[in-house]
Amino acid sequence: MTTTILDGKRTAELTRNALLDTISQLTQSGHTPGLAVVLVGNDPASRVYVNSKVKACEQLGIYSQKWVLSAETTQTELLDLIHKLNEDPRIHGILVQSPPPSHIDETEVIRHIDPRKDVDGFHPVNVAKLVLDDPSGFVPCTPLGCMELLKTYGIPTVGKHAVVLGRSMIVGKPMASLLVGKESNATVTIAHSRTEGLEEVCRSADILVAAVGKPQLVKASFIKPGAVVIDVGINRVRDASSPRGYRLVGDVDFPNVQPLCSAITPVPGGVGPMTIAMLMSNTVKACRQISGC
Ligand code: NAD
Repeated sequence: MTTTILDGKRTAELTRNALLDTISQLTQSGHTPGLAVVLVGNDPASRVYVNSKVKACEQLGIYSQKWVLSAETTQTELLDLIHKLNEDPRIHGILVQSPPPSHIDETEVIRHIDPRKDVDGFHPVNVAKLVLDDPSGFVPCTPLGCMELLKTYGIPTVGKHAVVLGRSMIVGKPMASLLVGKESNATVTIAHSRTEGLEEVCRSADILVAAVGKPQLVKASFIKPGAVVIDVGINRVRDASSPRGYRLVGDVDFPNVQPLCSAITPVPGGVGPMTIAMLMSNTVKACRQISGC
């Protein structure tokens, strides 16, 4: 079977290019989109993510603020900053990099972000808007990126059986909501760590989205021939032959699964690059909605 590789790098570039005109028009009318990224503590992976988000803003002409707070920052101090950012007219999107140190109550922090600026789509108001099919809400960037890949490659979803593997609030649940929603009209099954007969459930999928965090859990025996496979997983596995001592793999056993699929995302270079592109898109959307432009 000929398999289409769903190229996230290329699709993210198309998304960014499509945003450039809007950003320039907004800037000319005095409403430059602005994103504040807040990092508490010095987790090295989080630092890398935060820096790449700020860099993406710079490349597109989006104003950005990077707040790096010490690991000892209190909940009250963090909430004070969130309240300031809520009031700052230069800022349209606020993102608190996850995970914060354990003394910070992340759920509470998210509830203090103005939902109009919640470009991560984690605030309960935005979760509700997603379920309500209200397009003014913000959808978490990773599932939004998966949908953008399906759209860009013209993959039909209407009436298809989609299986979403994983039920997190960041990926699995919003992904299932998008697929079952009015725009996609798929029939959706959510599978998770307690699902019985996982392999069989997955094998019934026309579209399989894996968001589990278990390296290469999805084997060839999980795949219906001709299925579309979206691999959200990013897992480090030891690899002595790599200069870094590890390599990145997804939740899907790509070499063995790929020949069975009609389309599949690679890891890296699939869903990953889409996530930041969708964050930029959400920031521009927030700017338009807040400024009324
Ligand atoms: P999570 O740990 O919050 O959720 C994992 C889900 O998988 C849970 O719902 C759990 O029930 C399910 N699960 C665990 N073990 C299972 C098993 N053996 N069988 C079936 N289901 C099982 O993870 P998450 O935040 O949703 O992330 C999932 C993966 O996606 C991770 O590898 C993460 O790094 C990656 N991720 C990638 C991006 C990106 O930009 N590409 C963004 C977010 C997360």
